[in-house]
Amino acid sequence: MSRYRLYPTPTQQAALLEQCRQARYVYNLALEQWSMWTPDKGATPGYVEQARQLTEARAASDWLRAGSQTVQQQALRDFHQAVTNFYAGTHQRPTWRKAGRHEGFRIVGQQASRIVRRNRKWAVVNVPKVGRVRFRLSRPVPDAKSYRVTRDRIGRWHIAFAAIPEPIPAPGTGEVVGVDRGVTVSAALSTGELLTCPGLTDREQARLKQLQRRLARCRRGSKRRRRVKAAIAKLHARAADRRKDWVEKTSTDLARRFDVIRVEDLRIPQMTRRPKPKPDPGRPGRYLPNRRRAKAGLNRGILANGWGLLVQRLEHKAAGRVKRVKPAYTSQTCSVCGHCAPENRESQAVFRCAACGHRANADLNAAVNIAAGRAVSARRETPPRVSPKREPQPATSA
Ligand SMILES: [Zn+2]
Repeated sequence: MSRYRLYPTPTQQAALLEQCRQARYVYNLALEQWSMWTPDKGATPGYVEQARQLTEARAASDWLRAGSQTVQQQALRDFHQAVTNFYAGTHQRPTWRKAGRHEGFRIVGQQASRIVRRNRKWAVVNVPKVGRVRFRLSRPVPDAKSYRVTRDRIGRWHIAFAAIPEPIPAPGTGEVVGVDRGVTVSAALSTGELLTCPGLTDREQARLKQLQRRLARCRRGSKRRRRVKAAIAKLHARAADRRKDWVEKTSTDLARRFDVIRVEDLRIPQMTRRPKPKPDPGRPGRYLPNRRRAKAGLNRGILANGWGLLVQRLEHKAAGRVKRVKPAYTSQTCSVCGHCAPENRESQAVFRCAACGHRANADLNAAVNIAAGRAVSARRETPPRVSPKREPQPATSA
């Protein structure tokens, strides 16, 4: 994906938002049909059947007919991808697309490659039903068969062309690195480097807290509430931008410096799930403490550090060179003598071997173990079948 900032005029913004609304409407309609379906109605309608129904709906509704058929069809495609991912067990159940949160649509085919370069810094793309929209040429535009237009929560528009960049070639030095992903330290490398993902500064965090308290006092639907919400979204977007930037820089750096990158095979969706309630055996209907708040704090830390994103980007950039290692005991095992015991963890941050006395930063010790670790095979060996019209997907390594 190559993403560029899109600069629509106010009229174009309204037209783009209308397209987003239609894509969202079609997606939600498909989701509604899918979730209300019962076995006595026969087979669940697939993409082909829903696309046929879309043609009927377009004939019946002026509003839908006025929009782009490509946009609406691609929304159905997106929905079917979500269903496929759900059944494959890699993703959660598809959810509703919400206004303000999910603003975007996709254009495919010939019309996606109509780009005119105006000068060194600006180019124009032809968006169906909207017209020619300017975008900033922050890097060369790849030869792509499709693009996606999105609007983030603070109103910035982007255009992303679907093309997979060439992976970064291995340096050929035979060097192996282990990456341990922690909460206090974002990534510890077996080389001894500790990398921290930037988030919000203390001042920004204090401001966020203050805004959240103010939001709680605002009347629902008021102008003030909308203003406060926008300010909060701006801070969140800033943190997300920094996180993304850090992930991109770190993954490129690792892919350039090392031949093999070993990471822990962590299942983030499971780790960040809400803990199960613990019923109290003595008092029916009551519950014992299950450390839910403590885990919520940890979840925030995990997600804030963009763990999943880092590994995903590493697998794109260093395709075939990322190895997943079973994480069991990596934090309790001494990286010098191999002695494995829970007592080795002096504290959350410090590792001290009970056998040989080796003392180190706990995350670094784990990173060295991961670097030496045994790779486990990925969950799926054969790639799933995909439509040739689908956006190209990067090859993931085992
Ligand atoms: Zn030891």
